[in-house]
Amino acid sequence: MHAEAWQGIRNGFESGRLAHAYVIVGSTRGNALQFAESFLKLLFCERAEKPCNECKGCRQVEAHKHADTLWVEPQSKSRMVRVEDVEALIHRISQTAFGGGWKAGIILQADRMNNQSENKLLKTLEEPPQNTLLLLVTDSPQSLLPTIISRCQKIVLSEGRIGMLNEIWQILLMNVLSGMPPTGGLDAARLASQMKAILDTVKENISATVVEELDQNDEALDESKLKVILEARINARLKEVQADVFRVMLDWHRDVLMLASGIDAEQLIFSNDRNVLEQQAKLHTQASALNAIREIENMAQRLDRNIPAMQIFDEGFRKMARR
Ligand SMILES: [Zn+2]
Repeated sequence: MHAEAWQGIRNGFESGRLAHAYVIVGSTRGNALQFAESFLKLLFCERAEKPCNECKGCRQVEAHKHADTLWVEPQSKSRMVRVEDVEALIHRISQTAFGGGWKAGIILQADRMNNQSENKLLKTLEEPPQNTLLLLVTDSPQSLLPTIISRCQKIVLSEGRIGMLNEIWQILLMNVLSGMPPTGGLDAARLASQMKAILDTVKENISATVVEELDQNDEALDESKLKVILEARINARLKEVQADVFRVMLDWHRDVLMLASGIDAEQLIFSNDRNVLEQQAKLHTQASALNAIREIENMAQRLDRNIPAMQIFDEGFRKMARR
């Protein structure tokens, strides 16, 4: 997929048919960053065999110091891309290139722009200046405005870490959901510990990502401050994923409720799992299916109040067990 995407860019460059803007999806410190650098070397390399990786142009691109490129990334304190940085980038690419050729603006972790920045960028995307290239590098394209995505060519190198993590917990969660409702106390305890294991896996992965994302400014902090910042970042992301986990659990049980209520819903959310859902619906009355939904909402709220996860799941799944 990587090689194919690269060939597409090369062909576009050689035939003079590059798009003005690209969203590059992948690791913003790994494959997507490298792809963006190679892309820029193609534009700024001074030799016939492009990119040579040796000439002044290539080396300046690699150091992120080429005069006709401007790199923007989130500020370490707010973790957000600043509006003034986006404005500076737009201003730069609207001016004449120092080298007389291409101008490029690159936004790393582009999903960390606020709405104001995104709207400013949108205007530039609608009327891009001549000979400009805009690269938006992200591992969470779903966080960008759909109108931005639609004006860019999308290059997907990998789902990125967050995408991969989402895939992992979704598979684990489907195992739990397909075993609902618990047959009794023992089964409830088993499912509860599976849920706890899902959250532990999520937390481990998020911690690793957050540590990987530390930059020089962070590392200059003293140890106790750094610890506080790390914990805050980990918890903020953990809460986001937890909310997603509970949303999937609720969607699943809404499907069960529909079927248990005798509504033959044409549009089940989990329509691929209709057989499993129908089996589960047979074990429910409308009231007990509704109860399961309330219990899941209750668990989500208790988790937000920092009650130990194992206790919450143990009690919650026990209440959902078949009578
Ligand atoms: Zn070169």
